[in-house]
Amino acid sequence: MKEIVRAEPAGFCFGVKRAVAAILEALKTTEDGKAVWTIGMPIHNPQEVERLTAMGLCVASSAAEIPNGALVLVRAHGESRTVLKELKDKNVQIVDMTCPFVKRAQNLANSLSEAGYHVVLLGDREHPEIRSIMGYIEGASDVVADVEDAQKLAKKPQMALISQTTQQEELLASVAAVLVLRATELHVCNTICRATVDRQEAVRRLAGKVDGMVLIGGRQSANTGKLSDIAEENGLDVLWIETPSELQEGWFAGRTKIGIAAGASTPEWLIMEVCNKIARM
Ligand code: SF4
Repeated sequence: MKEIVRAEPAGFCFGVKRAVAAILEALKTTEDGKAVWTIGMPIHNPQEVERLTAMGLCVASSAAEIPNGALVLVRAHGESRTVLKELKDKNVQIVDMTCPFVKRAQNLANSLSEAGYHVVLLGDREHPEIRSIMGYIEGASDVVADVEDAQKLAKKPQMALISQTTQQEELLASVAAVLVLRATELHVCNTICRATVDRQEAVRRLAGKVDGMVLIGGRQSANTGKLSDIAEENGLDVLWIETPSELQEGWFAGRTKIGIAAGASTPEWLIMEVCNKIARM
């Protein structure tokens, strides 16, 4: 019998909980025939998306695909102003579930770019959250993924550094240290959300206390990827899975105390399924 030590907190963050609750409410209450849509996966967890689509949610790849008169839920990552305008022009009902922490980053990007700052976003340029924040920048901007990217930037009189909400604070500080030498004035906004930091600290606390850690989360989930990096940096042996079917008997050999962690987009029902299966191993 394995002992399970669960990282706390683990699983759905405030923003994802709120967006999923709004989708479930919309699916329950929309008038007959009115479809509920999101643009892109509403959360980075294929199993939860599968559950929601089985209940009637439609996932479009762009605003162009959404039919007139539909109800559209803007996911927690937010959308750019261009996409929101495209939706408004289509006469669709919009329920904006942009996480307030992402909204804050969008607003800062907007006001600082309007004030003349060259905005540098720290994050993954292909991530929907970064694309949504970029959609609020008026002037010139750059996206950097790490210190090396920051070192390549040209000097500017005024720079503003804004982070994707799921980055590590240590990386934000390192990038800020590089940019401070590249600008006469540097405005640093710590837009990393507490939910992310709390889950990262919970993983660090498991180090040295367990024989290995099972991490549950979608492969596309940026915050789950960061948890995996942090676990490895702290000497934890990690098994990253999306579903209980990926649990391998061999990995558990000789391990009695198993840590469990989950990304901010992993639903509680999936965490429980994994814990129950490990308990039976
Ligand atoms: S990780 Fe943070 S910013 Fe992102 S949806 Fe969750 S609470 Fe909001």
